[in-house]
Amino acid sequence: MLDYEHARHHMVEAHIARRGVRDQRVLDAMRSVPREKFVQEGFEEFAYEDSPLPIAGGQTISQPYIVAHMVEAAELEPTDKVLEVGTGSGYSAAVMARIVSRVYSIERHEDLARLAEDRLAANGFRNVEVRVGDGTKGWPEQAPFDAIIVAAGGPSVPVSLQEQLEIGGRLVIPIGEEPRMQRLMRIMRVAATKFEEEDLGAVMFVPLIGEHGWTPDEKAPA
Ligand code: SAM
Repeated sequence: MLDYEHARHHMVEAHIARRGVRDQRVLDAMRSVPREKFVQEGFEEFAYEDSPLPIAGGQTISQPYIVAHMVEAAELEPTDKVLEVGTGSGYSAAVMARIVSRVYSIERHEDLARLAEDRLAANGFRNVEVRVGDGTKGWPEQAPFDAIIVAAGGPSVPVSLQEQLEIGGRLVIPIGEEPRMQRLMRIMRVAATKFEEEDLGAVMFVPLIGEHGWTPDEKAPA
């Protein structure tokens, strides 16, 4: 039987802290969330390799380093209300739920959303709400958000998400002209109509599919 806790701590030191993630809250959250509980059955032994893994519906649970990098870029505070687009396995929602007071997460695949919801509840995460739908439209009933993290890559920044940011809020989103190659962008709402953009580097995400993302026939199978 693998010592998951030991493997988890090793992964955080070797692949996350050593690669430059400094935010102590992010490192602590990554040390405490059992990723083996969020991977597809049969993949538990690979849970602490720093790589994405397949989940249902042709989707992926993101690489741990990328989750840490995005969560750090979102500059989360304990009192923050966060929106996640692309629940997937529920793992990154769990990481954020260890840091902030409330996480709202949207997934377009109903089977994934239900599975993530069950896993989150079974592992004691009570401050995450999962909804099935098109996350490119945000979650207007719960807006504004202190941070919005998008875990899939779109062709451009959805205005609907920018509009659901609190003043001072941060949107972290992969954007690219190719459905599977993007630049990770951080957009900060510095005033009601003023946004500042920062390019955090190259990333590869599954496509963001929706009204303000790719249309289903523009991208590879998803
Ligand atoms: N954060 C996830 C995790 O930790 O497992 C990884 C998410 S996976 C890389 C991206 C997810 O975004 C997929 O599950 C995909 O179905 C979902 N997705 C793509 N477009 C979406 C949209 N418009 N609204 C909601 N979810 C979307």
